[in-house]
Amino acid sequence: MPLIGFKRIAEVSLPTRWATFRLLAFDAVHADRRSKQKRLETALALVLGDLHTTPPIARIHSQCTTGDAFESLRCDCHDQLHLAMRTIADAGTGVLVYEYQEGRGIGLIEKLRAYELQDRGLDTIEANLLLGHEIDARDYQLPVRILRFLKIRSLRLMTNNPEKIHAVSSSGITIVERLSADVPLGKHSAHYVATKRVKLGHLSDPALPLHVLSGGELLQFPAHASPSRRKAPAQARAAVSDSLRQEIT
Ligand SMILES: [Zn+2]
Repeated sequence: MPLIGFKRIAEVSLPTRWATFRLLAFDAVHADRRSKQKRLETALALVLGDLHTTPPIARIHSQCTTGDAFESLRCDCHDQLHLAMRTIADAGTGVLVYEYQEGRGIGLIEKLRAYELQDRGLDTIEANLLLGHEIDARDYQLPVRILRFLKIRSLRLMTNNPEKIHAVSSSGITIVERLSADVPLGKHSAHYVATKRVKLGHLSDPALPLHVLSGGELLQFPAHASPSRRKAPAQARAAVSDSLRQEIT
């Protein structure tokens, strides 16, 4: 849905272990004129230093309660969040947009239902599809609107996600450099990160999970997987066993 309303709500000082950021909070309204549907969205921006003299480091981080708050090892979110904050602090300038599209946009509770399926052998993509969700339901209109509100015309984007690269570059903001968001992987997160790389085209270094995995777990992936898809492909649904599907639906 198009973004029709946008407002800065608050701005405060936020001292952290790495630096004292400015923390800005934003409200936004999405609306569909035909269906008259409306959706509210909020997001935060951690800002440090001068964003305009040289292209600042920027990261768009999607909320992950299990990772960000509880330091879950199932995903790379917690370490990516701290990598971004630390890198921005080291550079003395940058912005981290924190947006609330948990579980690639399906929300915390649905993400936990998807975790249940992953515990039974599905990967993150198959689990989302079986629950009737898109593979990736996020849109980045609000994060990009925030970057534009901050008058950023060029930046160094820290991400492995080609959808985020596309969202920023198609808004007219110049990405002068992509910074890797790779973090060390463990036995709980390696398969998840590899799935994002192989099935969603993420740009993480393939050497990372291969380095930490034992037993050839990654060999099940095709050498050349199909590129990023936002909608559910029929063949992916068909790959899920009938018995599991009946149990869920
Ligand atoms: Zn996560």
